[in-house]
Amino acid sequence: MTKYTDKKLTCVVCKKEFIWPAEEQEFFAKKGFKPPLRCPECRKAKKPLPRLFPGTCAKCGKKGIFPSPPGEGPLYCSKCFSSL
Ligand SMILES: [Zn+2]
Ligand SMILES: [Zn+2]
Repeated sequence: MTKYTDKKLTCVVCKKEFIWPAEEQEFFAKKGFKPPLRCPECRKAKKPLPRLFPGTCAKCGKKGIFPSPPGEGPLYCSKCFSSL
């Protein structure tokens, strides 16, 4: 019996949910890899990971990491972004 079960992850590139199969989790754990950030399609297409920039949320003032550089319009943390 494996302790792994299929997991739902969100792709950082296309923001779609994808299933991370148990077998792959086991393989990644054995290799010491971090969980995949991209869905299988984006991985296959070798889509680059979005660049992340340190910044401050325009709403709550929390410092964090954002997908766009400061100066390109207001930045929102994931919490404020979902409540916009
Ligand atoms: Zn994707
Ligand atoms: Zn915020």
